[in-house]
Amino acid sequence: THFGFQTVPEESKESLVRNVFDSVASSYDLMNDAMSLGVHRLWKDEYVSLLNPGSKGPMKCIDVAGGTGDIALRLLDFARERYADRETTIDVVDINTEMLKAGYTRFKKTMYHNTPQIAFREGNAQALPEEQFPSNTYDLYTIAFGIRNCTSVPDVLKEAYRVLKPGGTFACLEFSKVNNPLFGAVYDQYSFSVIPLLGTILAGDRASYQYLVESIRKFPPQPEFAQMIVDAGFTTGGMFEGKGGAWRDQWNGIASIHMGVKL
Ligand code: SAM
Repeated sequence: THFGFQTVPEESKESLVRNVFDSVASSYDLMNDAMSLGVHRLWKDEYVSLLNPGSKGPMKCIDVAGGTGDIALRLLDFARERYADRETTIDVVDINTEMLKAGYTRFKKTMYHNTPQIAFREGNAQALPEEQFPSNTYDLYTIAFGIRNCTSVPDVLKEAYRVLKPGGTFACLEFSKVNNPLFGAVYDQYSFSVIPLLGTILAGDRASYQYLVESIRKFPPQPEFAQMIVDAGFTTGGMFEGKGGAWRDQWNGIASIHMGVKL
């Protein structure tokens, strides 16, 4: 590869990922917009409206690898605007304190600041400490653009299953495999050349953005990931129309949404 991360031993991947997000924390929101030409907003909005928070009353949510709270803010706004829900709560959990700090500062400008609706908490998706994150606690577990950075996807899923209440929902938004060859070729070109270049120009950091592109390439394709969710104990069938009902592609599979329910 351009960057050679495949050769990094698994145990050091965590510190590597920590460093990557340390160096991008302050520019993260800007870069998200620049790299995806703002499209990540559409994907996130579709994700949140599928989750439909507030529709069945207030929920206790955990947003893992939640970074600067982008998903949390959307979930809270959706529940409030659509259902006048001001009781849904979200724990934003991330391994990186710089991202959490940026999120905390961002929320200071919102009406959720200093309310029980939002909390920023440090934690590793693969091993959430049981004392702080007890089993059978949450109605909704969400992880957006975060699971591919984790060393062990099965460990993340196992923890998700543990902290959810029976009947609770697991939801994941992640970059995926493009299923249209022509579109795939254009996308490859874009991500391997334009994104690291944007990283250099806007954030002065080519290597971190190169890593992000590599990590997308290595993540399992949709059917394989859906099977991992089932293997962790979740029911997935029938959540979406077609393709086994386990996921929904966005933009030909550039991203996809996977969901499962803990029985
Ligand atoms: N969910 C946010 C969003 O959609 O904007 C942030 C996504 S950002 C691309 C990925 C986040 O995953 C980073 O904030 C990073 O620190 C976090 N992360 C990486 N490995 C993690 C782990 N093992 N446990 C918890 N968070 C992790």
